[in-house]
Amino acid sequence: MGLLRRVKITVGGMLGYSGCIHCKMPWRYVAAKKIMHSSSEGMSPLCIRCFEDLPIEKIDYYIKKDVRSWGRDKHETAGIIASARKEARRMKERLSARSLKIKS
Ligand SMILES: [Zn+2]
Repeated sequence: MGLLRRVKITVGGMLGYSGCIHCKMPWRYVAAKKIMHSSSEGMSPLCIRCFEDLPIEKIDYYIKKDVRSWGRDKHETAGIIASARKEARRMKERLSARSLKIKS
């Protein structure tokens, strides 16, 4: 891991910022990708770059990990995970449609 990255992670943590579950970069330095799990509520387990780069299976895993950490009851947790995963798929499809357009 690069020195600048380590410094940012340390400083962001000291300032109380949480960050991307995958790359650990605090929200002070990277933008979060919001995944809606209802019409009004969203979650941001990952930064924009990780969301775009990671395969959907890995995103599924982080969604589960994040939602479980909220400590809601089992039924609600399962519902949120399912909705967020569905939305993440839609977002990924839009991304690949966009990159196909750019390439052609
Ligand atoms: Zn990230």
